[in-house]
Amino acid sequence: MRAIYRNLLISAAILFTLVAITPVFAQDTAPVDPSTCETIFVDDNNYQEYRGKIGKWVMPTRTKGLAAYIQLFESTPAEVAEVNKGFPAGFKYAFIPYGKTYIERLEQSGIKRATTISASDQFVWPICDRVTISSVLGFRWREFHCGIDIPAERGAVVRAAMEGQVIDVRFEGGYGNVVDIQHRNDLMTRYGHNTVILVTKGDFVKKGQIIALAGSTGRSTGSHVHFEIRCNSIPLDPTDFLPNSDKVPSVQNMKSWKLKRK
Ligand SMILES: [Zn+2]
Repeated sequence: MRAIYRNLLISAAILFTLVAITPVFAQDTAPVDPSTCETIFVDDNNYQEYRGKIGKWVMPTRTKGLAAYIQLFESTPAEVAEVNKGFPAGFKYAFIPYGKTYIERLEQSGIKRATTISASDQFVWPICDRVTISSVLGFRWREFHCGIDIPAERGAVVRAAMEGQVIDVRFEGGYGNVVDIQHRNDLMTRYGHNTVILVTKGDFVKKGQIIALAGSTGRSTGSHVHFEIRCNSIPLDPTDFLPNSDKVPSVQNMKSWKLKRK
């Protein structure tokens, strides 16, 4: 009986220690090989990339058409036609590459391309400014939730978590507007509930490149990104591949703490 009490005490002490030290690692990144770390560009509202050009996705309207955007961003009709491959029928969004002088002026006014340091085997968060999780991988009301839900405002920039090739874009009942990207090592990422998908099947995308705008299409109760990482179609826990954030559940920090102790 005494042994049981002693074990209980030890367990409680270990648990307390774990909880107490967790915040120490909260700002940490997952264990990665520092020699493979590099600075990568991550798209935001000011700088976006598509087919190797820097610019911005816009939705031309009757009052502000393509020509107005071309003038605003100091681009040319030929450049716009080239990067959009002549515009598919019924297109809503167009990518306008920035002219050289427009980029210079942005930089002069202090608006620079956002960067982050990332190891080659590490993914980046698909949403840039709000990194929280509203739902984790696992069973949820008898159904298996194959990814994590990241709250995001409608229209927020959704970025590719790793470089790869867009293998499918579609509307699917539960997922809504969904993008699938194939990566090396049989890994695949999926991004659901988007308002609009900007990339096209077959496109190669960089890590951090904009692929869609967040929304609530499909079976969704609020604007968020449903994010999956799969290996040979088996869902994995995305928090194992993403850098830690002080705003995600402590489970992620606990995991990396365990890995560190190995
Ligand atoms: Zn989800």
